[in-house]
Amino acid sequence: MRFRTFQIARLFGIPIIVDLTWLPVVALHVWLASSVYLPRQTGYTFTTLEYYVFGVIMSALLFASIVAHELAHALAARLERVQIIDIQLHVFGGWTRLAGEPSTPLGEFRIAVAGPSGSFVVGLGFFICLALIEWLPYFEFKPMIERIFVYLFIGNLVLAMFNLLPGLPLDGGRALRAWLWHRSGDIGQATKTSKRMGIAIAYMLSSFGLFSAAWWGDYLSGAWLVVVGFFLYNVARANERQQVARVASLRVPGTIGELMSAPAVGVPPDVTIDDFIERVLSSHRHTTFPVMRDGRLHGIVSLGRLREVPKEAWSRTLIREVMEPVNDTLFISSRASVPNAVHKLSKSAIGHLAVVDNEGLVVGYVSQADLH
Ligand SMILES: [Zn+2]
Repeated sequence: MRFRTFQIARLFGIPIIVDLTWLPVVALHVWLASSVYLPRQTGYTFTTLEYYVFGVIMSALLFASIVAHELAHALAARLERVQIIDIQLHVFGGWTRLAGEPSTPLGEFRIAVAGPSGSFVVGLGFFICLALIEWLPYFEFKPMIERIFVYLFIGNLVLAMFNLLPGLPLDGGRALRAWLWHRSGDIGQATKTSKRMGIAIAYMLSSFGLFSAAWWGDYLSGAWLVVVGFFLYNVARANERQQVARVASLRVPGTIGELMSAPAVGVPPDVTIDDFIERVLSSHRHTTFPVMRDGRLHGIVSLGRLREVPKEAWSRTLIREVMEPVNDTLFISSRASVPNAVHKLSKSAIGHLAVVDNEGLVVGYVSQADLH
């Protein structure tokens, strides 16, 4: 389901977007904090207004913690030279949307663990605040502020640990996928395994939620776990179905979609030759690569052309400066017939074609060798 979204801030040039489903969650959190958690923890000694003022502050700090978690992902992605679209806050927390993916397992791993690491650091910060306030002499709001720091300390630890569960779409699942990808070199298989783990974790969370409701009568957190498990299950399954179905639907017999290699191993246009060699070429021994961003073809780069660049210039020459810029001899529709593709390849100087779907997004890559 998609609801209306709007931008609430811009940090480090990254838009922070809010989904409408997020607003009831904020309201619920303010209410639970102000009329349940804080009064119970402090013995009902303050006025309702005071509880609401501190409840709002506590909620704001919790949601700032979620933004900090996402921001850690986004800044790590920026270091890996992956473009960031925005950070979205919704009913289940946050989501950093990246345009494209890092080209190496290490890059993927760094982006995945940056979020939980950020949450650990923020949690530690609240722990230090707690220690400082404990150390101060008594003042009127001291018990209230203490409880808020305890809550934020634990909240950030839970945020970090929950996200480290090793199944997609969680951060731990992305780290697991990076590790499997690094070990086997096969990103497709790594993704499949991590998604299966995600589905297993979804089942475990939901069963544990049901168990805790039935056994301990803990209906609220039980129901929450069931809902979270259901959400994770849906995301893990939907992605799997979509991707398999998408490529499968393009594999029509007699068309180039049937014979193409998918997914295509691409290079972003703005990386240097040095980075390309270290991050892409080291794990993919092809002779040419499609240059793409957001699934859009920018050109094709060939090793033959790279060799003409003097070695001392590799650290400052960008791929887009040496690629063959996109033109209609470089790509073909996945629905084109095989003879058609053979004909087009025979006239191509590069000997490879990017295969695009009907939205113009790169879905595969094809060489003369694939057609024999
Ligand atoms: Zn995360």
